[in-house]
Formats: sequence, C-alpha cells, structure tokens
Amino acid sequence: MTKKKKKGKERSQQNLYRPKSVPKKTVPSKPKPTPAQLKDPEFSDDDTDYVVDNDDEGRLIVFPKRSVVLSTLPVAVREELQKNSIVSNHEDLANICLSRERSALVNGKECFTLTDSNGRIHLFWIPSKVSSKSVFRNGNMNAAGYIRDQFDHPLCWDFSFCDLLSATCVLYGHMQRYEPLSQIYVCQHVDRSNYKKKKVVTDHDTKQKRCHSCYEDSMYNALKYLTNSKGIPKAEKREIGEFDCNQERSLKRGEELFGKIKNVYRYKQLKDALKRLRTHPVTATLICFEGWQNPGIYKGPYSGPQPPYYMGEHQVVMLDCVKHEGTVVIRCKSSNGVDTGNDGYLFIDPEI
Ligand SMILES: [Zn+2]
Repeated sequence: MTKKKKKGKERSQQNLYRPKSVPKKTVPSKPKPTPAQLKDPEFSDDDTDYVVDNDDEGRLIVFPKRSVVLSTLPVAVREELQKNSIVSNHEDLANICLSRERSALVNGKECFTLTDSNGRIHLFWIPSKVSSKSVFRNGNMNAAGYIRDQFDHPLCWDFSFCDLLSATCVLYGHMQRYEPLSQIYVCQHVDRSNYKKKKVVTDHDTKQKRCHSCYEDSMYNALKYLTNSKGIPKAEKREIGEFDCNQERSLKRGEELFGKIKNVYRYKQLKDALKRLRTHPVTATLICFEGWQNPGIYKGPYSGPQPPYYMGEHQVVMLDCVKHEGTVVIRCKSSNGVDTGNDGYLFIDPEI
C-alpha cells in the first residue's frame, strides 16, 4: 500500500498493491483543492492519474481526481459522504460520477454506493444476481496448491501471478502437482531498475531498520514481462516461508522454466470471469476496506467497522464459486498466510 499520511488511530499496515501511477506527458498545473482541503478525512488529491487497466489496444482507463468527483456531487450527497464516508442506494451516482462511456457499462443497475475514504473515492454497484446454479467446484482448488505468505513484502501481484501460472501448469499437465514458482525471480525481472532501489515498505520495516528490494507492481506488467521471457523457475527452498527479497535468484544451467504463455484473457464483467472460472483460475484485484482479512464473507465497504476505511488494493486468484453459510461466494486464494480470511482463502460476496 502506498504510504499515506495517517490521522487519528493507528491502522494496521497491509501489503496491498496500488496501481502504478503513469507520468503525465505534459507538466500539469497543480490543482488547488482547499476549502479546508475539501473537508475530508485524510485528504489526498492525486496529481497523477492511476492506471486501473489497460485494454487490448493499450488505451488507459483513468480515475478522475477526487476533487473533481466531489465538485460534481449534489450538496446533500457530499455532506452525507463527509459525515459517514459512505452514501448508499442512490440512483443517479453513476451518471454523476462516471463519464458517459463508463456509465453505459453499468446501465440498468439501480442502486449505487459511493465511499470516500483514505483519499480515494469508490463507486460500487450490485452486479447481476449470481444464483445458486452458479455454484461449482473444480480442479482449481487443488491446482492452486497451498496458501503462501508474502509477509511484509508488497508482492501480492507477484504471488498471485506465480500461483496463477503454477495452477495453469498443473491443469495443462506441465507440472505434476502444485509447486510454487520463484517470486524473487519475478520481482527481479519485471522492473529491474526498481528492484535495485532499496526501500522501506511498512512501518514495521522502519522500526526494524530493514530495507526491501521488492516493490509494488501490477499483474499487467508481470504478464507483459512473461510474454517476452522464457518462463519462471520454481521457488527455491529459501523462498518458501520467510524470505529475503534482497537475495537474488539466479538460474542454474538448464533449469526448467514454467509459464510460457500464448494468450491473456481479460474480462470486463464479473459474469464473464465466472464463466472462465469454471475451467481456469482467474486473477482479480480486490478493493480492500478494513475487515477484508477477517474470517467470513467479505462485503466490500460493508465488511468492517463503519464508517468504512479504505486500505488499498490486493491481488488475489479466484478459484471457484461455493456456498458459505447459505450464501454464494467466490473463493479466492490470498497470499497472506493461513491466518488471513478463512484459512488463507477469502470468500467474496459477488453482489458488491
Ligand atoms: Zn521485500
């Protein structure tokens, strides 16, 4: 998670992934939000756009600035947001907050929820109903192996990427049974110059006076790297359990590499990803509010204490669709050890 100035009570730091910012082509004129910094909890107004996705033609979808969204909201909505950090069941939010192109994607959805927390605004809506008929189990759980732990390294993107590859290799018969791939090798190569820079990533590291070579990145960049490489080696013993990201992973002569890919599929809507999930694991970025790592079902901003507190983004691997306490959930493999979620798996309510 990107460092943010903290206010009030101490929140636990998580190793969450934030999309990389894109440098602007022209020097932007700095925005001037004040009236008490837009009257907000933990003000932030990004001065670079965030990449949330890249479509096949390499076009970027960017977030509008927080100040811009706030300024377009009706006064009543803004006031409620300021008071509670969340506004629910509002019909016009999509039209107000999104461009025409993007609001068309969520057309026909009636109820929207807007949250404003930790300097970020998020819009939620309920996707088409996922019925009990959608419940399925397949070989994905087995193929995706055991739960791993990224510890204090901001490497959810890397662990999810490696596990997606391992699972795919098992399903295609390129690997007999699940074996983890080298997260250090991936990290070393996806952004070589970033890997070399020593950095502190959590408060814990500051206290321990410990530096990392690892960094936050995206699944997109990892896949991009893979398309131009020969594959990823298996993790060495020292990479399983607690590991030192500063110790490089070199290839042995003739070492077997995994995960040569031909195609990458992207799904704009959950229903399409769920179809794919019947035969393959699919990776996803989870928007994490406080409470995301608790046992039980994760319901986005409704999961933890209210008002909701946005903590960052987390890359996970979706495995299957199961029933948990009578509710249809998407079972996802996380990389934070078995004490997170439900023995290391997150059960995501698809209706958020
Ligand atoms: Zn590290």
